Amino acid sequence: MTIQLSTLNWCLAKLNWCKHGMAGATMVSVKTRISNTQFQPKVLIFALDYDETFTASPVLFKQIILLIKSFGHSVTFVTYRDGLRAENHDICADAVACDIDIVFTAGRQKSHVFQADIWLDDSPDTIVGFDLLGKTYDGCLTQNDIKGDFEEA
Ligand SMILES: [Mg+2]
Repeated sequence: MTIQLSTLNWCLAKLNWCKHGMAGATMVSVKTRISNTQFQPKVLIFALDYDETFTASPVLFKQIILLIKSFGHSVTFVTYRDGLRAENHDICADAVACDIDIVFTAGRQKSHVFQADIWLDDSPDTIVGFDLLGKTYDGCLTQNDIKGDFEEA
């Protein structure tokens, strides 16, 4: 996918208007000089969880996968499941139907096994790497954020 320079110029003009035309607007800095006739946006790698994410609304996620792919980005199922299990016929069938790959982490933290730009997952705790898990734990202790607002006292 490419963005025409005229579209980019229109966006930059709007940013300039925001910078100077709106009282109290946040300053937006555009650091990149555009010299090409076209701007190539980054191809994004999406990691999509299967259980309780894709399966929570398969029709919706099939449409989301099509939309993401239509922008030239990639989507991969990244699941906590073990790929050697015999019960993977459902994820395999959906991967074939959606024409996407599967990464089985077999219980390993997903970010240890796959590098994604964007994660779509109902269990973000299965994504975070070991070092960030430790920092998150330390941050919760420092902030005395031991119980969430939604937990019963
Ligand atoms: Mg899940």
